[in-house]
Amino acid sequence: MTATMRMLIDGAWCEASTGATYAVPNPATEEPVGHAPDATFDDMRRAIAAARRAFDEGPWPRATREDRARALQRIADAMERRKEEMRQLLIAEVGASFITHGMQVEAPIEHLRHWAELARTFAFEETLPVRVSQGAMGPQVNCGIVYRQPVGVCGMIPTWNFPAYVTVQKLGPGLATGCTMVFKPSPWSPLVNLFIAELCQEADLPPGVVNFVTGQGSDIAETLVSDARVDKVSFTGSVATGRKIIQASAANLKRVFLELGGKSVGIYLDTDEPQMNAMIASGPAMFHAGQGCAMATRVLVPAASHDVFVEHMVGFLKGMVTIGDPSDPATMLGPVIRPERRRAIEEHIASGKSEGATLATGGGRPANLTRGWFLEPTVFCNVRNDQRIAREEIFGPVVSVIPYRDEDEAVRIANDSTYGLGGAIYARDTSRAIALAKRIRTGVVWINNGINMLDGPFGGFKESGIGREGGRWSMEEYTEVQQITWRA
Ligand code: NAD
Repeated sequence: MTATMRMLIDGAWCEASTGATYAVPNPATEEPVGHAPDATFDDMRRAIAAARRAFDEGPWPRATREDRARALQRIADAMERRKEEMRQLLIAEVGASFITHGMQVEAPIEHLRHWAELARTFAFEETLPVRVSQGAMGPQVNCGIVYRQPVGVCGMIPTWNFPAYVTVQKLGPGLATGCTMVFKPSPWSPLVNLFIAELCQEADLPPGVVNFVTGQGSDIAETLVSDARVDKVSFTGSVATGRKIIQASAANLKRVFLELGGKSVGIYLDTDEPQMNAMIASGPAMFHAGQGCAMATRVLVPAASHDVFVEHMVGFLKGMVTIGDPSDPATMLGPVIRPERRRAIEEHIASGKSEGATLATGGGRPANLTRGWFLEPTVFCNVRNDQRIAREEIFGPVVSVIPYRDEDEAVRIANDSTYGLGGAIYARDTSRAIALAKRIRTGVVWINNGINMLDGPFGGFKESGIGREGGRWSMEEYTEVQQITWRA
């Protein structure tokens, strides 16, 4: 598995024009998983030109619904057939432990099939009600339709944490709507993306419809975002980069879709079942080493049950959670992606201590793991919402438990954040939880472990993003709305 993979530009496999490559390390072993091309501006410009040509002159934007659906099905079939290969790559490249494989491995296949269905069924055209209007020559009968055209050439910049999932969330609707695309994967997950490029080639798409350009630096991403031949940028990553993308895309007023970070809450309303609730609340200190955008890393518990709740969390994390190489199916908590990310997380942990939060468990590196970028699952308790660990996204296995007095205070704490991505509520009374959810300023609220609906919108309020993806919401994101009207 230490092969050097190639990029896909204009329907052909290629190396970087300089021949340069870079090694991609396995975060659990620090050994190279493989090598990826380290592209230049020129490689990126060539890919943009190919996507532009494929959009303006190629058959894809005018392909039938059925053609688009079949292409998506072929990619889904190829992913299904090569699923075990993809699984191994995800384990090695981003440290995906088995408990994450539902989202890492299975969901992308399911979603591709769903995009195929939407290519067939989405309302690209709607008839407007006939109206009698006052024209220059007197009253006239007007007919009209609303038509959705593909938005054009899309610059796709997915992140690394769930790389197949995030890339498919862009590829699926991009293909279903007839767009052409240049993918610039995260420098930390090029291999899974180039694997997906192979699946796209198996689907026999016209040249230039899907291009993948990999590299270590941000310069190729900046080229993609600022190039006037690109109509839309779809980015999943941090708020800081999202801001730069808005600035850079202003020159030609590109459409911008941003899925950014979060500092989500989990609100626990009842005080019984503390053991079960504490286990759920520990999830973000364990699941994919806390490297998820919408994880409930601020745990809000009734003040009266705070201590017992924390005790159960510590018991679960110390007693039940296995830490190690995710290639072992028994591993629950794998490494974080890079040493610099581990240092940044440790810096947050140090700030939690110095600002007076109580470290209930973890906070260090597991003593028995000398290789790989591991961290212990970490819980701070008696946290105040104005402390850095409660305000900033840590993107590591660190959870803050914050006590609250009543529901109004829980809502105030939940909404006192610059982020607005996800939220979770746990309650015996679902109606009470739904009423509470409507007061939370986030794009999604999961009640009692509700799961994202395939046709539901996903995205953020406030600094967590602009736009929504999922089902028809993505179809709308990747289309431009056109009114066509005529006098009857
Ligand atoms: P990041 O912002 O560091 O993104 C890095 C990517 O942006 C790289 O591909 C890089 O080449 C590119 N980039 C850097 N500078 C750029 C520029 N000036 N213009 C354009 N592109 C540029 O984020 P990350 O580390 O990849 O991802 C972690 C973040 O992603 C977290 O904040 C997490 O919450 C968020 N995330 C959000 C979602 C969601 O759906 N909302 C999903 C997963 C992750």
